[in-house]
Amino acid sequence: MPSVSSPEQQEFLIGEAIREAHLGVESGGSPIGCVIARVEGADLTILARGFNEGKLTGNAVSHAEIVALGRLRNSPGGPVVLATTLEPCLMCFGGCLCAGVSEIIYAQPALGDFGASRVALPADGLYATANLVGGIREVECHTMWREWMAEREGEDLSFIRRLLGYE
Ligand SMILES: [Zn+2]
Repeated sequence: MPSVSSPEQQEFLIGEAIREAHLGVESGGSPIGCVIARVEGADLTILARGFNEGKLTGNAVSHAEIVALGRLRNSPGGPVVLATTLEPCLMCFGGCLCAGVSEIIYAQPALGDFGASRVALPADGLYATANLVGGIREVECHTMWREWMAEREGEDLSFIRRLLGYE
């Protein structure tokens, strides 16, 4: 599938996802944010936003992507791009396919996870797969995590460190 979003639109959307990630930190959670937009040529409309609410709600499945997908209403028409600061996990990747997301863009790979880029869907499956584009503004997201971790010295961060491929 040809790319839905331009490099400039990808930079912008990941920037918006980073803003959401900061809101997540302000809410007491981790720096993972997501936005969903309809993108048709130069037209871009943000349809939904979310950050990881796991800590806030105690609901382990309220990942940023699931939160944003849950706020998407009806079929928006036109190609839909989901932008997230961290490569989606299997649950969120599945959610994107169910919601008809055409393109998933992310900043940072989740190297310790069987994330979206390491899943091969059957060619004749029920759902159309989505384009995957990673590495957009990745350095900023590493910095965001490093700062977040630095403020949590002494806490057990082994899960997140493994997820991000830091150990
Ligand atoms: Zn997820």
